[in-house]
Amino acid sequence: MTFHYITRIIQKQREFFAGGATRDISFRKKQLILLEKAILKNERAIMDALHEDLRKPEFESYAAEIGILYPEIRTAVKNIFSWARTRKVSTPVLHFLSSSYVYQEPYGVALIIGPWNYPFQLTIAPLIAAMAAGNCAVLKPSELSPATSHVIARIISENFDPSYIAVFEGGVEETKTLLQEKFDYIFFTGGTAVGKIIMNAAAQNLTPVTLELGGKSPTIVHRDAHLEYAAKRIAWGKFFNAGQTCLAPDYLLVHQEVKNKFIEIFKKTITTFYGEDPSKSRDYARIINDRHFARVCALMKGGNIIHGGGTDPVERYIAPTVIDNVSLEDAIMKEEIFGPLMPVLAYDDIAQPLSIINSMPRPLALYLFTKSRKIEKHVLERAHFGGGCINDTVSHVGSTTLPFGGIGDSGMGRYHGKAGFDTFSHQRSILKRSNLVDMKLRYPPYGNRVKLLQKLFKFIG
Ligand code: NAD
Repeated sequence: MTFHYITRIIQKQREFFAGGATRDISFRKKQLILLEKAILKNERAIMDALHEDLRKPEFESYAAEIGILYPEIRTAVKNIFSWARTRKVSTPVLHFLSSSYVYQEPYGVALIIGPWNYPFQLTIAPLIAAMAAGNCAVLKPSELSPATSHVIARIISENFDPSYIAVFEGGVEETKTLLQEKFDYIFFTGGTAVGKIIMNAAAQNLTPVTLELGGKSPTIVHRDAHLEYAAKRIAWGKFFNAGQTCLAPDYLLVHQEVKNKFIEIFKKTITTFYGEDPSKSRDYARIINDRHFARVCALMKGGNIIHGGGTDPVERYIAPTVIDNVSLEDAIMKEEIFGPLMPVLAYDDIAQPLSIINSMPRPLALYLFTKSRKIEKHVLERAHFGGGCINDTVSHVGSTTLPFGGIGDSGMGRYHGKAGFDTFSHQRSILKRSNLVDMKLRYPPYGNRVKLLQKLFKFIG
């Protein structure tokens, strides 16, 4: 991938965009339906690639990488017309004899950079939003999941003209080359450190960005929680994709009164899910590469392992592991785990988890297990985080009606459903003035009209 080649493709996309084809709503719908058909046709190839990259179980591949995209496409196809409609809004009395409109303008050429953990979904879902809003797009899937990256490149090149949608494969160097180009929008999903590099590069061209980043998402189990359900829902969210989920429950804060009971149920749940030896389970994924395997293994050093702990470097297998007696000073509490380790901390008073959560960078998600409306309100009002669930984990990401995104270190901007359309659209405001009369008031020479102006501004709404 040479700089010259990239520049040529982007130039072609600019020309295609300027030609106006993407402004046509029926064109957008047709292209989205084409994308849906292409995904449907390639489901087997996508699942095979995900298995090759992550040994992802078929169920998880279908649920979180493929199936989740269909409602996104269908919601967009069903609603683009109304989302894209120019809205007439009211006009303040100051501008009487005028009318006001908000147009939904596509930005132009968008760059979408994807991560390796859900390498298909997290590259294609932003593309759906970009297409719905009428943009051209350049995709850069993650080089750490090469099989999926190749499948994305093949599906897109077989179905779309590169002057509308193009894929550039490659790693850090290729991404840096891409970032030298001026895009109209950059949508990045990945880690916080790289997010800063992306934002810095975007700043050179004043390109707007969405950053979907990660973080340590806390999970609180209060003393009145339904412990059986909590154990299942937390174990599912944590060990799905072997913990390599941006919004996985990162660590547990359990009320002291129910801690021992909860841990017993949690351990039993893990065994029910993955058997006595999870390395033999077909439903349990592997760690993406040796570097991440070594990084996650090193995090096991603090605290006491009370469940799991087994590893196999050849397969990059790490067992679902529960670690008790963890301190906030341990390495595991200092970085996003992004692996199947669950540290457990206890609390007596709800103020303690809140103070821990708010002392750390703002996480992508928070999960709270309680039956108390009062506790729910208390936590939601005081903790700062991107989004989350009450009495569940991770599920909010799968809704087309909930805007998904982080805050602070976990990112900026949001997508899914209409929120994705809005992200990839510039809201252009137009005031249309009547030619019936032309008020002299605003034109020089102003004379002593300032007094009139003072009176006017005191009364208008
Ligand atoms: P990453 O930040 O290492 O890489 C993401 C992308 O950036 C890749 O395409 C990669 O090629 C590119 N990249 C890496 N280094 C770069 C550099 N120096 N300059 C330019 N581009 C560079 O992220 P990852 O390891 O693929 O994914 C894991 C992280 O992503 C975790 O922190 C996770 O929480 C986060 N994540 C967030 C979401 C979300 O929706 N908020 C989803 C998935 C993952």
